Amino acid sequence: MTAISGQTKKIETAHFNAKYELEAEEYALASLQMLESAWSIAANNGFLLPEKIRFSILRTDRSVLYFNRKNLKEIRLEYSSLTSLLPPDDSKKNNIYGLCHEIGHLCMYNTTHNRNNWMSYDYRESWADYFGNFIIDSIYKQFGIDCWPEPHDYRKYSGMEYLIQRIEKNDPKLQSFNKASLFWHELNLAIGFNNLHGFFEEVNIQKVNNPNAKEKYLEVLSGYLQKSELEEWFQQYADYLILNEKKSY
Ligand SMILES: [Zn+2]
Repeated sequence: MTAISGQTKKIETAHFNAKYELEAEEYALASLQMLESAWSIAANNGFLLPEKIRFSILRTDRSVLYFNRKNLKEIRLEYSSLTSLLPPDDSKKNNIYGLCHEIGHLCMYNTTHNRNNWMSYDYRESWADYFGNFIIDSIYKQFGIDCWPEPHDYRKYSGMEYLIQRIEKNDPKLQSFNKASLFWHELNLAIGFNNLHGFFEEVNIQKVNNPNAKEKYLEVLSGYLQKSELEEWFQQYADYLILNEKKSY
């Protein structure tokens, strides 16, 4: 990343220390309002998040949104031009959803203490995707279309209805990702959103890891799900969710 920094400003909100380019101030304030809301929904559902998360919106030579994998308490939005901050139809970026998605990653990793080398790409990303879409519906209830400087209906590109439709479309290119998404959806419906954090804690306490991550994960599931055919149910998802060997990335 090459910073092409103009004048920046720092502010502090209840759970975020923010730094942003002055030219992006409206987007920073809109993002912070939404991030605070996502933080509260997560915390109210028992998820463990850092008391203060660093958040920055900075102009660089690329347009990306990501969380800090090392310290698990930082989200960065970089943009190469202000166009990248516009609604999806104009920017091809889905920043509202993206911010909620990153909070989803932090919720999981702060509970599993980053012990995630058995998790498949689809496991990690479909969780953040599920969380992001779930939170979007609450954000919409709270702020409606006005939560971004350019009001728009972001449920056209995100939210639970959008997610379910994506799964139902059955696009072969998304087959494994959708399988993983369906796993989270069924788990959520079965145990409830407010029990997912406890589930992650148990995954951490039971030290799910390779060798035998699949077996250990199934054991944790059996403490939460009374399905009579739990093993059969899990088997249809297991290969999409859990790697057989340790992988570093
Ligand atoms: Zn992600």
